[in-house]
Amino acid sequence: MQPLFLKPVFKERIWGGTTLQKEFGYAIPSDQTGECWAISAHPNGPSVIENGDYAGMTLDRLWREQPELFGNSTEKVFPLLTKILDANKDLSVQVHPDDTYAMANENGELGKTECWYVIDCKEDAHIIFGHNAKTKEELRQQINEGKWNELLRKVSIKPGDFFYVPSGTIHALCEGTLVLETQQSSDTTYRVYDYNRRDAAGNLRELHLEKAIDVINVPHHDASIIPTVEKKENVAITTFVQSDFFSVYKWDVRGKATFSFPDQYLLLSVIKGEGNIVHKDQKYELKKGTHLIIPVGLGRFTIEGDCELVVSHP
Ligand code: ZN
Repeated sequence: MQPLFLKPVFKERIWGGTTLQKEFGYAIPSDQTGECWAISAHPNGPSVIENGDYAGMTLDRLWREQPELFGNSTEKVFPLLTKILDANKDLSVQVHPDDTYAMANENGELGKTECWYVIDCKEDAHIIFGHNAKTKEELRQQINEGKWNELLRKVSIKPGDFFYVPSGTIHALCEGTLVLETQQSSDTTYRVYDYNRRDAAGNLRELHLEKAIDVINVPHHDASIIPTVEKKENVAITTFVQSDFFSVYKWDVRGKATFSFPDQYLLLSVIKGEGNIVHKDQKYELKKGTHLIIPVGLGRFTIEGDCELVVSHP
């Protein structure tokens, strides 16, 4: 039994940039790289195990063939997806369906509730989060008339902020934002507004207005997220959210901290600093941009160093 280190998959996007290379040293495919799929079992970009007995195996295959590593979960697919997003330009304004709607309309895909931890952003950065319409009628009318400034809510952000984005929430990352996203393992997006941008071939990207209007929550409510911090020996653990879909934490390790999770597998992403993870006399390097899974049954392990990790589990 070992921690499982993962090799990320990169996605080029019209809004992407080079921050994933600059910040994490990743070998990105181009200077329009928008997404690092860091811990993924999704068919559109599964990550590959890098070490140990399962080296070379994709995470979706490991999920199917070694269910004991995941506590013999009864879920059909690995439920989570961890990404790092470099919004070098504004992303399209979008919304995701819930499980029921996606199941019926998207070939059995999962819905998508997601959340963002802001690793870094430019000064005065913001996101689009929610809308001002009071009824579906009003929502439909403002979308059809293109009254985006009236409709969309802009929210200021700073490094360290956390946003919970339930399915049905209209949202967009905006220029100059680097986030770690924890989400349901789904790739279903309904695009509402794309700033009338054209791609390299001169084409507008497709919009999905009818489906979007179907699934947007009206009126918008901010999820009440109040992070709590628990101080243990050489680690401060921030709990951001514990929802039906996932729980997300940040671990600030300063020194040597010991952990044990007998019944739960964990997804770990190092977002700052460096150190080691030590398990049964084996030492593995952790550095900014390292992603790993702690399988069920690993037992006690230690993280030593000076680093921050975003941690999640279903
Ligand atoms: Zn989204």
